[in-house]
Amino acid sequence: MARTLMVAGNWKMNKSFLEGLVLANDAINHALGSANITVVLATPFIHLHTVGGMLKDYSHYMKLAAQNCHHESQGAYTGEISADMLRSVGAEYVILGHSERRAMGETDELLAKKASAAIKAGLKVIFCVGEPAEVRERNGQERFVKLQLERGLFNLADDEFRQITIAYEPIWAIGTGKTASPDQAQEMHAYIRSLVRQCYNNLVADECTILYGGSCNALNANDLFSKHDIDGGLIGGASLRAEEFGNIVKARAAKQYIRN
Ligand code: PEP
Repeated sequence: MARTLMVAGNWKMNKSFLEGLVLANDAINHALGSANITVVLATPFIHLHTVGGMLKDYSHYMKLAAQNCHHESQGAYTGEISADMLRSVGAEYVILGHSERRAMGETDELLAKKASAAIKAGLKVIFCVGEPAEVRERNGQERFVKLQLERGLFNLADDEFRQITIAYEPIWAIGTGKTASPDQAQEMHAYIRSLVRQCYNNLVADECTILYGGSCNALNANDLFSKHDIDGGLIGGASLRAEEFGNIVKARAAKQYIRN
């Protein structure tokens, strides 16, 4: 089976309720016609239910995502949201392990619990990994990402792991305008796929969607998506600009037929 190609927009903590609905409407319009890939909108919690309704007519390829969830399903966790609660408002995906959340103290061990809880609740997970600048400077990126995967994800059973999309997001490239070169990204994606192959099997590795994230935009998307192991993008800043987001979606959709 061919792997899923995907462009996911991570809005982070941006947009009032009404501004978010305008952005979702525009993003949907600019992404229309790319049903050969999966388009994901990861909105703040406040938008999920309403944006989910807006995606209904396109739900065969446009999916709703949250940006975090708790590892327990319910209880006395003030301010938290569980994976079951996300499912109840129509989310199909959740982003976990984003470096901005790891920087707030989320450990690999906690992320392993969150990933299990999300999958048990029926969510798919976009799981982020990636090294900081100082690790890249000493060429330690492979070891760093390997540990993140081993501790955060590789405890999952085969059928659970198939609910995972990996996002390789070098921290030095996130929100900095400094993109990894297509060759640097491809090298890491191929390495990550080889780790999935070792831990699981050929089928799981070949089907695993691996996104690149880090200052991906409409100008560099085409070159990044030309690489064999780059299956799409996790887009931060550029996902707040609907037309540009749509152009990134179109860049990914246009390359679909080259790889299959
Ligand atoms: C992100 O936050 O996941 C991201 C990739 O951000 P940006 O595209 O702004 O670098």
